[in-house]
Amino acid sequence: MDWLTNLIWHDGKFFGVDWSVWKIVGWLGNAVFFSRFFVQWYATEKKKRVVVPTSFWWLSLVGSMMLLAYSLRQRDSVFIFAYAFTWIPYIRNLIIHQRHKEAHLDCAKCGANCPPQSNFCSSCGSRLDGQPS
Ligand SMILES: [Zn+2]
Repeated sequence: MDWLTNLIWHDGKFFGVDWSVWKIVGWLGNAVFFSRFFVQWYATEKKKRVVVPTSFWWLSLVGSMMLLAYSLRQRDSVFIFAYAFTWIPYIRNLIIHQRHKEAHLDCAKCGANCPPQSNFCSSCGSRLDGQPS
């Protein structure tokens, strides 16, 4: 078990890493950013078709911002460039998702979320009042 102790506690440091506040920010960013793959994979397996849930874009945004902050702190140009512009499509996707959601109509009878401009509920067939949800 010496190798395990050595791995966890190396050179008098946890995992041999020089832990600082910024290291924690960087590693948390990595964890948040990496978790999005599992979120997307789970959503896809559940629906049995490829889907990208809103949480995927939120995790992408938060994770990449933390990694950008860390890379700026490290002053590593390669690393900074990798995360400098990724927030643009993440935010754009979140805005489009929100607009799409707002444009949809909620059925007063069954609560189904129906496509914009629909006159009748796609789920129960009752008349929609035309007010966006
Ligand atoms: Zn309905």
